[in-house]
Amino acid sequence: MSETGLVYDEEMTRYKLLWTDPVCKIEVPERLTVSHEALKCRGLDRRCVCVPTRQATDQEILLVHSKEYLEAVSQTPHMSLEDLLTFTQQYGDVYFHPVSHDVAWHQQLPPGHHSQRCEASGFCVFNNVAIAALYAKQHYKLNRVLIVDWDIHHGQGVQYCFEEDSSVLYFSWHRYEHQQFWPNLAESDYDSVGKGKGTGFNINLPWNKVGMTSSDYLSAFFHVLLPIAYEFDPELVFVCAGFDSAIGDPEGGYNLTSLPQSVCQTVHTLLGDPTPELRDIGPPCHSALESVHNVRAVHQRNWGCLKHIEPSIKRSRVDEKVEQHEEETTEHLVWPEPIPRDAPPLRTAARVSKEQEELLSEACLCLGEKSPKDLEEAEKIRNKHFQDVTDEKSLKCIQDVVSLWEKIKNKEVRNGLVVVSDVFVSLKCAVELAKNSLSERTLVLFVGDDIVPVDTNDGKVLLVQICRKEPSEVKSVYHVPVCLNKDVFSCASVMAAVLGLLLPLAYEFNPSLVLQVMAEGSSGLKVCVWAQLTSLLQGVAQGTALALLKGCDSDMVQATAASLSGASAPTLGPLGPPLTEDLEAIEAQRHRLQKRWGLLVNSVSDKEKESQDQ
Ligand SMILES: [Zn+2]
Repeated sequence: MSETGLVYDEEMTRYKLLWTDPVCKIEVPERLTVSHEALKCRGLDRRCVCVPTRQATDQEILLVHSKEYLEAVSQTPHMSLEDLLTFTQQYGDVYFHPVSHDVAWHQQLPPGHHSQRCEASGFCVFNNVAIAALYAKQHYKLNRVLIVDWDIHHGQGVQYCFEEDSSVLYFSWHRYEHQQFWPNLAESDYDSVGKGKGTGFNINLPWNKVGMTSSDYLSAFFHVLLPIAYEFDPELVFVCAGFDSAIGDPEGGYNLTSLPQSVCQTVHTLLGDPTPELRDIGPPCHSALESVHNVRAVHQRNWGCLKHIEPSIKRSRVDEKVEQHEEETTEHLVWPEPIPRDAPPLRTAARVSKEQEELLSEACLCLGEKSPKDLEEAEKIRNKHFQDVTDEKSLKCIQDVVSLWEKIKNKEVRNGLVVVSDVFVSLKCAVELAKNSLSERTLVLFVGDDIVPVDTNDGKVLLVQICRKEPSEVKSVYHVPVCLNKDVFSCASVMAAVLGLLLPLAYEFNPSLVLQVMAEGSSGLKVCVWAQLTSLLQGVAQGTALALLKGCDSDMVQATAASLSGASAPTLGPLGPPLTEDLEAIEAQRHRLQKRWGLLVNSVSDKEKESQDQ
């Protein structure tokens, strides 16, 4: 059964502008019809569960809005055109239609993020996302809800609704240009952090320049949103998925080509299809870095994951006069159709012991007998790279890895796991296989203290090692040891390393294969953390991953299979601050590597220091 629901109602398309208004003319019913057509065209609608609509009750709307406002909007179906126009003009950039009362009731004109308690604003009649968050809290007894707002505009309505509320964390990035961009509010800047007990739960990341790239957005994800989101540990996440920030839509309107593409890409991702490759990822631009730096600094005291940073604000660019520029028209812009998100027919395969097969049968395909061709292939590999290997156990490792690799290489499966008895032979074998075929770059995540027998000097292998003791030598900027304390690593520390080092490195390196190696049992890593990071790494290499596990108990094997097969990883619970010594180790690596790996840069001071050193 599909895990993704889809809400669509023809009724929505009846909402349209009945008079001339240059600002509102872009809010057209075609936005909905072209998006729905595109979903049908790609067969995506059939893969979702159709969720029927219903009218919201007055009680639900009153969770956010005032009685007076609700009553006023309720009158609109009975108004003459003239009265409707007069009614509309008291609000900013919005219009009412005789059916807008009904339509807005369907909670389907998402996300409504500009609408406020007593007024409509910015095409938003009711604040749907705020109503939904409060409804979920009330009816499902939720304690923590996260709202991520990637619309190009700041959702001031959501901010006003929750700024004193610590149970709803609101994160918005938005075009700001030092308050030159609508809604032109001082409170849309990074220093609005929430009020009273809601302090720290309102996170604004203003973009002060146009033309932000994937690197800028990834920087915001890894250095602001994800660390705070993991620490907060929401039970439910809403996304205000305004696509006016997409390519082809820099005027903050609605582009009828990029909109359906964006909608389809989002549904693909919700359905677990392989994520597209991101190329040319590097450091954020100076303006983006400054915003990331400032929002981290201003929230330093609110979040444990930021406690180690210097809370100094960089205002260097704020005083500069913003260049006034003519808005470009977008009609001339062309961009390629997104690459199809095709997936191998099967997601996950495993080669494990007979007893473990029973545990995994639901999550993945357990490979049975090895084919003569696989054995032949394994013999070739042995002759070429492992001439000194003659014992049965090691030979079996090579055969197991080869047989699973063949399935990945031939695109029969997306990823897989092998339980191995010799982790070094298996790892070396996998690296050689990858080098010899489709994989130009391999990311190796190694959990364990051993000296890892892979060569990182040719730039084709990036090795990130989570360990307890410092390795005797660090080979290159492609070798990243992360030394953590304690017998069982702190979840917060591991996540700080994953979000601050591993993921930025992984996205910038852009591997075609991820090898995840657990060298000896859990090696200090909790099962839930391993499951989380396995899920997160599915975002690179189009999900092409091979996990090699040695000495792990069945929980670990099961969790690996589940995460590889797309199941959501178990929660880590709200995280405390990472251990100070661990943060020091992570920061030391970040400083060592940020010249080569630009996505690791998250502070203007680091960058300034770096240029002084040169
Ligand atoms: Zn918008």
